[in-house]
Amino acid sequence: MPTTYGNYINGTWVDSESGETFDVLNPSDTDEVVGRYQDSTTTDAEAAIEAAVAAQDEWATTPGPERGAILKQAGRLLEERKKETTTMLVREEGKTQSEAAGEVQRAIDIFAYYAQKARDLGGVVKSPSSPKKEIYTKREPLGTVGLITPWNYPIAIPAWKLAPALVTGNTVVVKPASAAPNVTRILVECLDEAGLPAGVVNVVTGSGSDVGKPLTEHEMIDGVSFTGSTAVGITVARTATEGLKRVQCEMGGKNPTVVMPSADIDEAVETLGVGAFGTTGQSCTAASRAIVHEQVYDEFVNAMVEYANSMDIGPGRNDPDMGPHVSNSELESTLEYVEIGQDEGATLETGGQRLTDPEYANGYYVSPAVFSDVDNDMQIAQEEIFGPVLSVIKASNFEEALALANDVEYGLAASIVTQDLTEADEFVDRIEAGVAKVNEKTTGLELHVPFGGFKNSSTNTYREQGDAGLDFFTTTKTIYRN
Ligand code: NAD
Repeated sequence: MPTTYGNYINGTWVDSESGETFDVLNPSDTDEVVGRYQDSTTTDAEAAIEAAVAAQDEWATTPGPERGAILKQAGRLLEERKKETTTMLVREEGKTQSEAAGEVQRAIDIFAYYAQKARDLGGVVKSPSSPKKEIYTKREPLGTVGLITPWNYPIAIPAWKLAPALVTGNTVVVKPASAAPNVTRILVECLDEAGLPAGVVNVVTGSGSDVGKPLTEHEMIDGVSFTGSTAVGITVARTATEGLKRVQCEMGGKNPTVVMPSADIDEAVETLGVGAFGTTGQSCTAASRAIVHEQVYDEFVNAMVEYANSMDIGPGRNDPDMGPHVSNSELESTLEYVEIGQDEGATLETGGQRLTDPEYANGYYVSPAVFSDVDNDMQIAQEEIFGPVLSVIKASNFEEALALANDVEYGLAASIVTQDLTEADEFVDRIEAGVAKVNEKTTGLELHVPFGGFKNSSTNTYREQGDAGLDFFTTTKTIYRN
């Protein structure tokens, strides 16, 4: 029998007033239910908001180092539970063992990083304008914040929102994605065990409309930090802005990697292979467009096909190169794009098929797809697929490659593979992306540097991670003492 988990409201695990639950399935083997969660209602979300509001004053006035000590302890407890959490991440989301271990370690590191920041939240003392006058600034918590998170990094993303929110004195209501709420729950169990006061963190599971939407509308919510698709993010941003709430939305991508003639083709293929097919293409920063100079186009396509065909696909517990899709709807969406690409006239070089051998029968497996002869205005080159599908687009020179790279509604991550330093500099200066890389895959970012996108990838107001990650959760007060 799968375990049923409650919502976490005011420091206790409670059932939804709906009396309904939903099952979280293992995408590698859908016969396995990896947890049963509350199908919550708006009333549950409101109860969580009220608990967070009630806890806010006391948490805000708790000295920073005390808040930091709780975060540090929660990180330690998560480290003790690293093996169990990694296994759960593999089971609920389909990540490979290595990907999952990396993500859990990231969450641990994020807590350690922001715990340290607790000692460093004081304001800057300005030069006095007269001997009797002092002017300084201080950061105050934003207040009560709604955190709405996606399923594709179900512990790292909640961690990179929770840690800066808590260390700066906010109280929060977290709404995790329904496909993968287990590891968020473990993270919150660690915070609970570390001594976080009741009401400071609350978690409510359920649908976007019943639980997510109230977080964007409720008058006592001061800010909303959302990560997810652009379609939902736009609604979240509009609703929150109408209520004059601070809002931060990190959304989709259609990330290019440009390959120039000076590139080492093996290096380019490895860069694109990991960038496009890692995490089954289910990363906001996944490379989904290879924009390749005509001089090396054929050589690149052949080598890329060889790479895709050699990939080992299977359940994450065996640590293959690529695991399954997270859900049937994500798998269906990828297969539909593979159809669309063929209908649009692109050449499907390899992959894009559901795997049906008995070993794959109970999972959402698809083979990594490579399309050649792709025009940048095709749907497969413009829309986020969120699956292991790479479109290879030909460019005749650097200027054309750059123009193609920028010619999408998104602007999250981008990279170039080249040995030419001038080209590399030109690329990072002119690419419309929040993260620009040279001879690196588009995916992956250190936790201490700012992360966010341009154009429709982000509300582009506040960045996440690093020092910049504190800005969203604080407001500045200027103080004069005469
Ligand atoms: P999604 O937009 O479907 O859902 C994200 C969250 O929003 C979920 O918790 C969902 O329940 C909730 N939600 C749905 N409707 C809502 C509403 N009306 N009001 C409030 N909340 C609502 O996204 P997903 O499928 O979970 O995640 C995949 C998407 O996330 C991809 O587009 C990916 O690019 C993006 N993503 C972006 C980043 C980034 O940092 N830019 C990182 C990871 C994922």
